Amino acid sequence: MKKLLSILFIFALTVTFAACGSSDGSEATDESADNTLIMATNAEFPPYEYHENDAEGNDQVVGIDAEIAQAIADKLGMELKIEDMEFDSIIASVQSGKADFGMAGMTVTEERKESVSFTTSYAKGVQVVIVPEGSAITSVDDLTAKDANYSIGVQTSTTGDLYATWDLEDEGLATVERYSKGADAINALLNGKIDCVIIDNEPAKAFVAAKDGLRILDTSYADEDYAICIAKDNTELLDQVNTALKELIADGTVQSIIDKYIPAK
Ligand code: GLN
Repeated sequence: MKKLLSILFIFALTVTFAACGSSDGSEATDESADNTLIMATNAEFPPYEYHENDAEGNDQVVGIDAEIAQAIADKLGMELKIEDMEFDSIIASVQSGKADFGMAGMTVTEERKESVSFTTSYAKGVQVVIVPEGSAITSVDDLTAKDANYSIGVQTSTTGDLYATWDLEDEGLATVERYSKGADAINALLNGKIDCVIIDNEPAKAFVAAKDGLRILDTSYADEDYAICIAKDNTELLDQVNTALKELIADGTVQSIIDKYIPAK
């Protein structure tokens, strides 16, 4: 019996060491060693990424970004693994190598380019303003009016946050309330805690459609390009993803994925 136990013990140790060995070995080239591409996202951003149950009732992250990422992984012959996190953590996770790339309806900005590389853009974004029906705010210009001093809800660290902070709060024209999810900002708006929400057009449409009493202003706040971010030192992956993405744009795959989630008007 003793012998059997020690054999089992040695077996367990061997298995443990083997497991450690493979994770150690994969440290430098995570994605190629285990053939998995890890995507960092914030699945609170319909229709680009959101949670949905599959046929078996298992929670999944679906949406435009999830499908484009899957098509890229297929082209590269790799498995895709999606990690849901705060929007605010995506860039750090890519920089540290915990994730291979970030895809989250992420706008290309000069500041972000100092921290990460961006692929070619695969979609356009528009920052819009959501107000309660009957609001005194009827155009974007109302936000900058003298003595307006509105309370503006945004999702932390998004471009909506950056614009509202720079253009309005820093100028003493408004206060900015930051929420970790766009949906939380919408709830605050419905509860009368804030006067408007600045957020991307497509999630704005989804949120407004899901709740009564809200509308999107006709004038938009800013036009943007969405792209995938990758660690600056991972130029090999940037090239691979860019090549795959450009092919998927050229053959119409990206547009058909977008059309599936955003029906043409
Ligand atoms: N496009 C916005 C940004 O990049 C918001 C993205 C998001 O909330 N997922 O900041």
